[in-house]
Amino acid sequence: MDPVRHQKRALGFLSGILAKNNVAHALVFTGDAGLGKRQAAVHFAMARNCEGTPDPESAMFGSQGPCGVCGSCRKILSGNHPDVLFVEKRGASIKIEQIRDLLSVLAMRPSEGKTRVVLISGAGDMTASSSNALLKALEEPSDTTCFVLLAGQKSELLPTVVSRCQEIRFSPLPVSFLIESLENDGVDPDLAHACASIASGSLAKARALASDQGLARRNWLVNQLCALEDQGMGQALLLAEFLAKDKNAAQEDLNWIRTWLRDLLVSRYAPQRVINRDLMGLVNSRSAKSAPEVLLEKLQAVADCENDLTRNVNTRLSMENLCMRLSSGG
Ligand SMILES: [Zn+2]
Repeated sequence: MDPVRHQKRALGFLSGILAKNNVAHALVFTGDAGLGKRQAAVHFAMARNCEGTPDPESAMFGSQGPCGVCGSCRKILSGNHPDVLFVEKRGASIKIEQIRDLLSVLAMRPSEGKTRVVLISGAGDMTASSSNALLKALEEPSDTTCFVLLAGQKSELLPTVVSRCQEIRFSPLPVSFLIESLENDGVDPDLAHACASIASGSLAKARALASDQGLARRNWLVNQLCALEDQGMGQALLLAEFLAKDKNAAQEDLNWIRTWLRDLLVSRYAPQRVINRDLMGLVNSRSAKSAPEVLLEKLQAVADCENDLTRNVNTRLSMENLCMRLSSGG
């Protein structure tokens, strides 16, 4: 299932304005990357120009289309429709030359579409001069042109630009959907769960976390370490078995475990020195529950385990010893 299909509120709103033919001159779709904003915008452009008969069951906007198969729809889908214009950053920003080029195209009549749609992806990447140049076009509404800006949030745009756009918010995606998507990508279910849980409802973010193996592994490990404190010995042996499976990954795992324990220790004295800053809330709450002397003993357990591994002690036994010591003392 596409992420965009979870955007019932946004899609419902767009279907409504299409049905009433009451589309604002400029729209801004806001929300994190990976929520389906771009896909919705492309289908919106298709629906505005569709020449076919949509199947209300499968079309993104129901009876409002698009059909997805007519000549116009296919041209837009492939990025080849002369009246659907895509703008996105070149290098670090959307430059004023790009907006000037756009305005010169807009000065001419649409060549074949019913409605010209200008899709500005990453609108927050516009420079101030680009935004001001675009503002001129936004201030002069045209019956034949509709702007769709995509942005993370309104605050990325100049207030003068925002005030001329109707905002349509895209919601965070359900964690269950992110897990399912990552698993479909072939991500290990444990990692999928960890990445999905901290991805703020964004599939793009979840995929980035999952593709960054070190970070994903860290997140999984942190979850495991917290679970150890709550669930005790049985969990410890399960974790040890898992960690011992891949001896090559063991050193990396121990590094992450050490940084996590160290963070719990230093956060109350020197929060600016915490390494896993993106997990600050968890670091603080776990730190409050952990006595410094217990954390020091756990850090010693990690050091002992590292020693064992360099001395070729049985990996499984070393990991069991480590995990049991990590599970005690809360
Ligand atoms: Zn069509």
